[in-house]
Amino acid sequence: MTNRDSFLGQVGKIIPQGKPIATIESAQGAYLAIKGEKKLNLCSNNYLGLASEERLKTAAKRAIDEFGVGTGAVRALSGTNSLHIELEKSLAAFKKAEACLVLTGGYMANLAAIQTIAGKEDIVISDELNHASIIDAVRLAQVKTKFIYKHKDTSELEERLQEATDTAKTPKSDGNPPTILIITDGVFSMDGDLAPLDKIVPLAEKYGVLTMVDDAHGEGVLGDHGRGIVDHFGLHGRVDIEVGTLSKAFGVMGGFITGSSDLISFYRQKARQFLFSNGLSVPDTAALIEAVKILEESDDRVKKLWENGDYLREKFNSLGFDCGQSETPIVPVMLGGEDTAVEFSSKLLENGVYATPIKFPMVPKGTARIRVMPSAAHNKEDLDFGVNAFAKVAKEMSIL
Ligand SMILES: *Cc1c(COP(=O)(O)O)cnc(C)c1O
Repeated sequence: MTNRDSFLGQVGKIIPQGKPIATIESAQGAYLAIKGEKKLNLCSNNYLGLASEERLKTAAKRAIDEFGVGTGAVRALSGTNSLHIELEKSLAAFKKAEACLVLTGGYMANLAAIQTIAGKEDIVISDELNHASIIDAVRLAQVKTKFIYKHKDTSELEERLQEATDTAKTPKSDGNPPTILIITDGVFSMDGDLAPLDKIVPLAEKYGVLTMVDDAHGEGVLGDHGRGIVDHFGLHGRVDIEVGTLSKAFGVMGGFITGSSDLISFYRQKARQFLFSNGLSVPDTAALIEAVKILEESDDRVKKLWENGDYLREKFNSLGFDCGQSETPIVPVMLGGEDTAVEFSSKLLENGVYATPIKFPMVPKGTARIRVMPSAAHNKEDLDFGVNAFAKVAKEMSIL
């Protein structure tokens, strides 16, 4: 057997075990088409229903007529168009930050935000449940000294800060002290709980270190008009780096970093993900400008989302389901066993509801769940239809 045969053999063994990915044959909305059938959509991150909103579609079409489709080059060469600049300005204003840099995804934004400012000799302090893209970014940065604290445990965070401060007394080979950076998700999406930023930021200030928050599930959800977790806690200007995604509540795709003008200029000059990879396409960018406008104009969608989340939680609780510790419209319906969650989800689909199971390794073994994600596009009848399907399946499986 050749070396290549051995590799291909391993790949062939792994693939059949993967779960098939459903193909969606319609726009993202309260309902989806799967295999020609209409299903209630309870598992997308399209929190505000913007993914198929007419105003975004119109903005994208108009921009295509004026600017075409592609941007032709990386943004640092000839690929920055006036739409990119307009989007960055409007996002900075929306987040009440000095400046903003847009990239092609939240994943890319995390890589850029971390790799550009942290290196081998710097120090990262990270919540144990931070998103995979943060973990990958810290690896890419080759940071050697990493302190991981227990989920949301700010007294352990303070111990780690003391250790980090001690370690940082030894200067780097360039003579500067190692940079210390605390990184946390804003909303932890598997459970819907919040990072205690109101405690993390004062601790960071006490020890004089940098803070970064990944607000992927907070934008469009938390704070005034969905401005995010920093707004929710009233911490404007006190979190150094905010990373966001444009792929969830904003309804399109992309990611961004907001912060001080100096810091964002630094990223614009140095971030490899910006310098060596193309920017957002024309229709994406134009649609996003419209999405930010919609959020600035009204908080109706954000309010509807919360109303729907609260309604679902109340209904599930009264049926006897355990909905965990969520503090957001994310409603995890805890089922425990991995197989139970998988079976539950496939029975839901037979009953017209699309809600995928979340299981190990996404969450610890034995805490499998169906994570119900409502959106502003759902009305009460839609949610009732979903809850009834949950009740029916639970009865069939003798779960409650
Ligand atoms: C979804 C998500 C990302 C990735 O965002 P994309 O725009 O899909 O690349 C990053 N961080 C967190 C916390 C997320 O939930």
